[in-house]
Amino acid sequence: MATLMDGRALAKTIRSEVLEHAGQLRRRGVTPGLAVVLVGDDPASAVYVRNKEKDCAECGIHSTVHRLPADITQDGLLVLLSRLNADPAVHGILVQQPLPERLDPFSVICAVDPKKDVDALHPENVGLISLDRPYFLPCTPAGVMALLEHYGIDPKGRHCVIIGRSHIVGKPMAQLMLARHATVTVCHSKTPDLGALTRQADILVSAAGKPGLVTGDMVRFGAVVVDVGINKNPDGKLAGDVVFAEAEPAAAYITPVPGGVGPMTRAILMKNTITAAVEATV
Ligand code: NDP
Repeated sequence: MATLMDGRALAKTIRSEVLEHAGQLRRRGVTPGLAVVLVGDDPASAVYVRNKEKDCAECGIHSTVHRLPADITQDGLLVLLSRLNADPAVHGILVQQPLPERLDPFSVICAVDPKKDVDALHPENVGLISLDRPYFLPCTPAGVMALLEHYGIDPKGRHCVIIGRSHIVGKPMAQLMLARHATVTVCHSKTPDLGALTRQADILVSAAGKPGLVTGDMVRFGAVVVDVGINKNPDGKLAGDVVFAEAEPAAAYITPVPGGVGPMTRAILMKNTITAAVEATV
């Protein structure tokens, strides 16, 4: 039977460390602040933003949510970002994705001050991550690494197979794994015979957003299985990419969905906001 990697519990520990750190900053007269920008009324995004507000409250971080109408112009959004960049009370800025299709996400990401880019998506931060000198940790991949470390799993010399090559998960995941001396294979939708690769994985990270993609026969006996996917089943319940009931008997370690990587992503965001506040005061 696999050991369940409990992201909820570890995230709680991280949040209490962040709260302590926020208290130290407050005693020096600095209230760490996160500004979240939400464009439009996508219900899933609204839930994510509410969770971030909740996390900030628990961590002693002041949060402000800027709700903009779905028909906001690109210029209107950029004006707000430049105001937030200049605001000394705002240490971290996060623009909730996805943006309405009319808006260009790349120029929006580029408009955030890299020193406030707590999502680590600005080209400067992406470059620093690929040079193994991250200023901010990429939230989801760093959450995965923290979980592995907590459970005593060292990626060094292991074969890590990642499903997904997005800017937000797959690619930075590969960078962090390489930095920890794993041998890395990155798969995507054009990869033929996915199972032939996943069966070679000591550490399998799935971030495809496809429920049921990873079946039991795709998991090597004794592998570590990390399920980043968050999908909604037709019954409204959350599911990962991995067929948990099939993969769990083969795996040595496995993350649940929900309660695995999701809470870790949120906790790393809180950590990054503290990093931004600390750096702003030195
Ligand atoms: P994207 O849609 O941006 O990327 C998905 C990636 O998976 C792409 O690279 C795509 O390939 C690849 N892919 C899709 N289908 C297959 C397939 N059948 N076989 C192999 N590869 C495939 O998604 P994100 O990276 O933003 O998110 C991925 C998942 O993780 C989603 O479910 C998302 O909700 C979840 N997520 C969870 C987080 C958490 O905290 N747990 C945080 C962020 C995301 P190609 O490039 O060829 O299209």
